[in-house]
This record gives sequence, C-alpha cells and structure tokens, in this order.
Amino acid sequence: MKPSLSPTASERPNLYDVKPDELPALLHAFVTPSFRVTQIAEWMYRRGVDSFEAMTNLSFALRGELAERFTISFPRGVAAAEAAPDGSRKSLFTLADGSLIESVFMPMGERTSICLSSQAGCAVGCTFCVTGFFGAGRNLTPAEIVGQYFSLRNEHAVPSEQMNVVFMGMGEPLLNFENVVTALDILGHDIAPKRMTISTAGIIPGIRDLARLPKRPNLAVSINAPDQKRREEIMPITAKYPLDELVSTLRDYPLEHGREITAEYVLLAGYNDSVEDAAALARLLRGLRVKVNAIPFNPDPNLPEWMKRPSDEAIDRFVRALVRQDVAVTVRRSKGRDIAAACGQLRGRSEPRRPRAR
Ligand code: SAH
Ligand code: SF4
Repeated sequence: MKPSLSPTASERPNLYDVKPDELPALLHAFVTPSFRVTQIAEWMYRRGVDSFEAMTNLSFALRGELAERFTISFPRGVAAAEAAPDGSRKSLFTLADGSLIESVFMPMGERTSICLSSQAGCAVGCTFCVTGFFGAGRNLTPAEIVGQYFSLRNEHAVPSEQMNVVFMGMGEPLLNFENVVTALDILGHDIAPKRMTISTAGIIPGIRDLARLPKRPNLAVSINAPDQKRREEIMPITAKYPLDELVSTLRDYPLEHGREITAEYVLLAGYNDSVEDAAALARLLRGLRVKVNAIPFNPDPNLPEWMKRPSDEAIDRFVRALVRQDVAVTVRRSKGRDIAAACGQLRGRSEPRRPRAR
C-alpha cells in the first residue's frame, strides 16, 4: 500500500495522508502489539498532535523509529492575518512547497466553526470570488487539510463537541475529492459528520460521488443566480454543469432525517437581489429540502467594479420575499471588514502570483 505523499522535503510519508482504515496495515510490520496502533491513532485523530515526541505513552525507541520512517507534520502557521471584533480570525499557513493558504476560525458562542481550504487556489473562476480571481492552485493533501483544523482547534483549546468545519475556504472541495474524503474520515474521529459541511460550486459528478459515501457531511451548494444565463455569467462552470441538471442532482441527494441542503446565494446589488429574483429562486428550489443562506457580496479591489453589496433594505426585501414563498433563509450579516465574511473568498495575499487574465 502506497500512501500519497505530502510534498515535504523528506521522502517520509505523512501519516495524516493515510486513510484511517489503512493505518493499521501500514504500521503493522513494526508497531506491536496492535493496541499501540490504537494509541497512535488516538494521538493523531483525537489529539491532533504533529510530532511523534508528543506520544508520551509510547516507548522512546518506538517514537524514534516512527520518526525515522514517517512524519505527522502540518502546514506551518505563519500569521493570524486579521482579527475581527466578533472574535473571528483569519490564519495564513505556508505549505512545504511555499504555497500559502488561509483558514478562518469563527467562535460563535457554544459553537466554533473553522473554515478550511481544500486547494491552494481555484480553477473554477467565479467572477465574484477573490480566490477565483487569482486562479488555480494545487490540491491540498489530507495532511494539509486536517492540519488547518487541528492547528487551530489546539491553539484555541476548543473542545471537540463544540467544533464544526466548513469547506468554504480556498478551492473547490469536490475537485479534490479523494483527499477531501480522507480528511473527512480523519476529522470524523473527532467530530460527527453532521458538523461538517462541504460547499461546492455545483460539480455534479462530485455531488453524486458524495451521495454514495456512507458517512455524508452536510452539503452546501453555491447557487448564486436564479437562472442559467446569469449563473453562467458569474459562474462559468454552469456551462459545463447546467443549473437544471444541478437542481435535479440535488433532488436525488439522500438526506438524513433532520438535515437539509444549504443553497448559498451571494447577493449582488441590482443583479440578483430583486423581489422577482427571490421568487425565481423559490421556484427553482421548490420541492427540495433546502434552506437559503444569503451572503451579501463582499467587495474587493480585484473584483469587477460593478459588483456591489446590496443595501440592508434590499437584503431585507429579498429575504422577506423568500419567506413569503415559504423558503427558509438565513443571512450572513457581515460588513465588508468582517473576517467571517471573508470565508469563501480567501487568498494567500503575500504570494507572488499573476492574476488570471479577464
Ligand atoms: N468552492 C466552493 C467553496 C468555497 S467558496 C464554493 O464555491 O461553494 C464559499 C462561498 O463563498 C461560496 O458560496 C461563494 O459563493 C462565496 N463567495 C465567494 N466570493 C464571495 C464574495 N466576494 N462575497 C461573498 N461571498 C463570496
Ligand atoms: Fe472557486 Fe468557490 Fe471561489 Fe468559485 S466561489 S472561484 S468555486 S472558491
């Protein structure tokens, strides 16, 4: 069995890149008795340690042997980029190859959410998204994905029961399917699948693959426009995965009791925020077990100038129109400077990258 490698300087495989159910076979040859493997798994998947030295119930010799053959390293946290008054904090991590990624830590009373990146950029190219503006970046390895979670959870000492993760950071998780699923398996040892959410731009084959997982996370889909034409304008991927086919894929998506799909909808002033747009969105989603999460557009100098955040009155009108159509809706209330708002439109700011031509 060959675990996929994190691109570290060393040739040692990172054990966080290995699927949890393959860990015993990998360690079997020299970690005996087998309860030692359970101890190692506990240190990794529950405590989220990033050094074998920390595994203090293993012998010194075994820790040394493990360190000779493997690593359990995480991306290096370089900066807590910005903090907001609500306690949200954006963190920047460097990967072994120098790429930068961002994660957001969001305390919300009894619950804490961490917004994870799944790729070091995004090739999908939505025109309202800063990550999309800076273009494609490579897939993150499982170790790089879970490393964001464990680093931030441990730094803030949050109990697992309060943790939630959302894949709404940099990248399109369903275009890095296998590594994201390994990360979900690992995180599943610490938090229940119902506390994890994958947000997708609507990669239809990926949604179908997700539907087949025995332990499914929550699904959020960035709908963002009520019709094919406008969605194609702001999300070019709609040409490949048409809106009607996306919605019918969502109809077939198996939902556990009490769960629903989240339809994310970025509100752009004068573009998709009218009362008629709300009615069209309600029609589009009719029959789905869904709640809309309206996200007022968060501006950025790199994004087209015509894109503006609607006024609070326009947001309220849109929301009320949905409610009148019996559509459940929440609003991500966020001013432009709010860090939580930046979840989903992140980038490694200090990375010297050439923006994609537009
Ligand atoms: N690639 C996935 C997950 C990352 S984006 C996806 O597209 O769903 C997470 C969310 O942030 C998406 O709903 C996206 O529509 C939203 N988003 C991106 N840029 C934004 C912006 N400038 N203002 C508000 N929301 C934005
Ligand atoms: Fe990629 Fe999501 Fe941004 Fe679109 S919104 S460019 S899919 S990260």
